Order: sequence, then structure tokens, then C-alpha cells
Amino acid sequence: MRPLLHPALSHTWRDESTLQVGVTPGLAVVLGGLREPERAVLRGMTGALDLAALHQLGTEVGAAPASVDRLVEVLFSAGAAVDADHLTGSPGDDRRAPDRSSAGLQQHDADGGTAVLDARARQRVDVHGAGRVGIQVARLLAAAGVGDVVVADPGVVRSADVTPGGYGVADVGLPRQRAAGRLLADDITAAPPAGHSTDDDGAGPRFAVLAPTEGTGRDDAAGLLRLGVPHLMVQVMELTGVIGPLVIPGRSSCLRCHDLHRTDRDPHWPLLLDQAMRRPPSRPACDTALAAAVAGLAATQVLAHLDGFAASAVDGTIEMSLPSGLPRRRSWARHPSCGCGWGDAAAGVAQWVL
Ligand SMILES: [Zn+2]
Repeated sequence: MRPLLHPALSHTWRDESTLQVGVTPGLAVVLGGLREPERAVLRGMTGALDLAALHQLGTEVGAAPASVDRLVEVLFSAGAAVDADHLTGSPGDDRRAPDRSSAGLQQHDADGGTAVLDARARQRVDVHGAGRVGIQVARLLAAAGVGDVVVADPGVVRSADVTPGGYGVADVGLPRQRAAGRLLADDITAAPPAGHSTDDDGAGPRFAVLAPTEGTGRDDAAGLLRLGVPHLMVQVMELTGVIGPLVIPGRSSCLRCHDLHRTDRDPHWPLLLDQAMRRPPSRPACDTALAAAVAGLAATQVLAHLDGFAASAVDGTIEMSLPSGLPRRRSWARHPSCGCGWGDAAAGVAQWVL
């Protein structure tokens, strides 16, 4: 192990004996009462010296090995240092470096996020619906290191689909799947695992995003629930973007739970859903900036789930409306009349009868 003060955090001497690593709450750590021997050891944590060499340095400047070990332990336990042995990314890997650093900071990993990014590279995410929002979610996930992102959309790219983070003008008129495939080929920053391709390899997705451009997405959601595939709903309706629910089949509330709760409050909700599917607006609204913000939030939820965190959109939705743009979270518990929780939760597969 070769200790290195975290290269993604700033290192600030508040005075000659107090070092602050990091700035923001939850990451920043302050080390006080540092004497010159400890300061010399800290200066030696450049990733060039292993522990034995740091002990040798400590001995030379008057810091006992136990003192050096204590300093290293405090820094690593606070997530303020990494092991330089694990920071060697593959050639041409610079595009993922900021994502790796971010993942490492979230996990307090001593490897600087290498294991998290390697795990993302082995994930497959299917994106159902690739309009203004869906295509941006797909591109963000690919760029963040998800190794296999598959877009499913039978439509054609329209002029109205063009956004800075999605399709370009040259894509207009192309099948969305083909245009998305070309864009994703450039976005993918992680090499998919050997023998794994974006073609149907029988493995199925680890996760799915539903960003319907037509209809309500309920049929796709029901199918994914039956298959036990975790999925996230995301869409913009009129002036509001809705991210969620993120459904973990058998373990969290599903889209049908939400619909049943809404129906309890408004008996006409099923009618609204039905008519929205049968008679969608002829010129639906979808603000460019709102679509980008919603896609970004959706991608953070997917990545949080894939990285092993409890995503905020589980048992809830995150909603943001124009003109304020301030996100708020709404909680949605399982509905007692929905059968999505009746199955074997340990198996993660819902037993749900339509
Ligand atoms: Zn349910």
C-alpha cells in the first residue's frame, strides 16, 4: 500500500499545525495538533512511498511507527486518503477519472472508486423510450461508466427530439434505436465485459429505465415487475418532471401502488391515465432545460442503486416543476390492494396477478 492524500480533495493548512482535507460537509476532515514530524510524514504521502518507507521517513524526522500508523488509519477511515497502488487506470481512461473519483468519495473507498467503476462496467441497463428525456438518461449512464446501455424505441428521431445532451440535427429522420446506438458508441467509456455485447445475449438487463414517449409505460412496468427487473420511471408531463418510482420488485412500492394511492384520492385517476394514453396532447410540452435536469436526476438515481446505495426514488418520486425547478420528494408506500409485495421478497421476484 502506498498512501496518498486523496487527490480529489483539497488540502488546506488552516494554521501551521492544522490540516483540513476536503471542503464539503460529510467529506471534510480536520487534523489538529500536528507537529513537524507528522507534517513531514503527511508531506510524504504522495503515493510514492509504501508503509515501510513512510515508517523509515517517520523515524528520520522523529515520528514513531505507531504515530505514522495512527495518522494513516485516521486518514483512510475518514476517506481522506487512497492507496496509490489502486489508482492505475487503463490507458485512455481519463474520461472516467472524475466519475471514479466521485464514486470513491461516496464509498470512502481506499481504491479511489476503481471497484465501483469496474462494477458499473459489468452492468446492463435497458432504456425503454428514447425521446428528449430517455436518450439523455441513456447517454449519461453510458458516460458514467455503465458498460452496456441498450435503447428500445420503435420511433424515429423528430426535430423536436434534438437537444444538446441527446440527438443532433443530423439524427433527424433516423430510427431512434440506430441513432442512439451511434451516440452511445461514442459515450461508452467502459469496455463491456468479455463476451458481453449490446445484442440480446440472453442475460437480460440488470436494470431498466422507462421514459415513455407514447402511452403511460404501465405495460412495460408490469412486465419488468413480473420478471423481477428493478426499474425507474421518468418522464416530463406538461411543466413537471417526475423521477420515480424506482421499483425493486417485491421490496418496494411499484407504479401500480402509486396509481392505487392516487385513485384513493381521486377516483377519476384511471380515467385520466386511460385518456392520456388514448388521446395524448398534439403538441406536448417538454422544456429543454427541464428535460436535461430530469435526465440528470434520473441518472443519479440509477447509479445510486447500481452502486449499492438506497436511491431516493425508492418508495417515492422526485418531482420538479417550472418555473421554480426546485426538486421535492414525495413518499409512496406500498398499497395494500396491490399484489406486488405478496411474493417471496427474498427471491426479489414479485408474484403479481394482473
Ligand atoms: Zn405495487
